[in-house]
Amino acid sequence: MKTVDEHLTTVLAGIGPLASLELTLLDAHGCVLAEDVAATHALPPFDNSAMDGYAVRAADIASASESSPVTLPVVGDVAAGSETPYTVQPGLCVRIMTGAPLPPGADTVVPQEWTDEGLAQVVIRKSATIGQHVRRAGEDVTPGTTVLTEGTHLGATQIGLLAAVGRDRVLARPRPRVVVLSTGSELVDPGQPLTYGKIPDANSALLTTAAHEAGAIAFRVGIVPDDPRQLLDTLEDQLIRADLVLTSGGVSVGAYDVVKDALGRLGTVAFDRIAMQPGMPQGFGRIGPDDTPFFGLPGNPVSAYVSFEVFVRPVLRRMLGVEPINRPIVRARLTDSLTSPPGRRSFARGWLSVENGTYVVRPVGGSGSHLIASLSAANAFIVVPEETTQYDANTTVDVMMLERRQR
Ligand code: AMP
Ligand code: MG
Repeated sequence: MKTVDEHLTTVLAGIGPLASLELTLLDAHGCVLAEDVAATHALPPFDNSAMDGYAVRAADIASASESSPVTLPVVGDVAAGSETPYTVQPGLCVRIMTGAPLPPGADTVVPQEWTDEGLAQVVIRKSATIGQHVRRAGEDVTPGTTVLTEGTHLGATQIGLLAAVGRDRVLARPRPRVVVLSTGSELVDPGQPLTYGKIPDANSALLTTAAHEAGAIAFRVGIVPDDPRQLLDTLEDQLIRADLVLTSGGVSVGAYDVVKDALGRLGTVAFDRIAMQPGMPQGFGRIGPDDTPFFGLPGNPVSAYVSFEVFVRPVLRRMLGVEPINRPIVRARLTDSLTSPPGRRSFARGWLSVENGTYVVRPVGGSGSHLIASLSAANAFIVVPEETTQYDANTTVDVMMLERRQR
């Protein structure tokens, strides 16, 4: 048997970030930037008001106070986006809204709260210093400044910055496209009636959404019966849009193990036994004219998901170009005892929480790899090393954190 680490090394060999592409801003979300982005204009682009109020010359209201306010004629109104340029002559003012350009001549903004909010003329009860409540052109970003560098992971705030500097497209590492199919003549689509011996296809939904959560664009192809010809035809049709192919089922030693039957003959996909629990049988290799990475995951839903987390997700993250590629491992106190098969690394379902500032993990459900309900009740895997067969309660153990979820 191969170890988990050996198999991970095998699947990661030759995997790197996908070739960069010009992506629209929203498509680039979650991707890695493949260029340095410089601002072509200042941010803000022009001096503008930070308040709703009046644009005035500070000198004209220098004497204003509660007991002796200054009254100024209001010669106009500038809203954000208004295109009528005004000039503020000495002794006059303009009503101004947040985000509106500061009219030439004015050098400060009086918030409307210091005034009677007059429209034809305004009573101002307080003096102001020059530049008060004015956002200066370029105070955020000056033209030519590099705002984001190549390699930056584009989250919502970086996408917002790109939009603010006027970019609608950027060069980025695209999301890997993952094609997901389930093998098994016992499978029907969720929502379809279950006749004798049939079960709903859980894996294609599970793996498609897991791939999406990992940052991929995932296509759920659905069910292929245990027929090698149909499997090969489907793969051939789907390869065109795939950076990675995921199947589940049909990789063990049964008579109708279709993935092994069909792909074993190609000679480019190896079927190995990995020293892990669950997830022992694994198919991995390259298929098609572009040597597209192919994973034949085991059919039991928990095995398929553990295999995804341990082997597929790191490959997808490497293709995206993001770090870290592996889930975080934390140390936690185990609440109950736990057994594990000798010679295999096991991934036991657990619920990780924080008690009095330290991590605590509670085993969830049984160890059967068909038990998808307990999988869905877990937010972590307790990782038991190959040489360990038993943990007592209160042992400190390694825990792989999955998506953060609250109960
Ligand atoms: P296999 O590896 O094809 O022998 O499948 C192992 C077990 O997982 C069998 O009990 C299958 O019925 C079950 N199984 C395989 N594929 C799926 C799937 N897509 N959804 C739910 N269960 C599955
Ligand atoms: Mg099967």
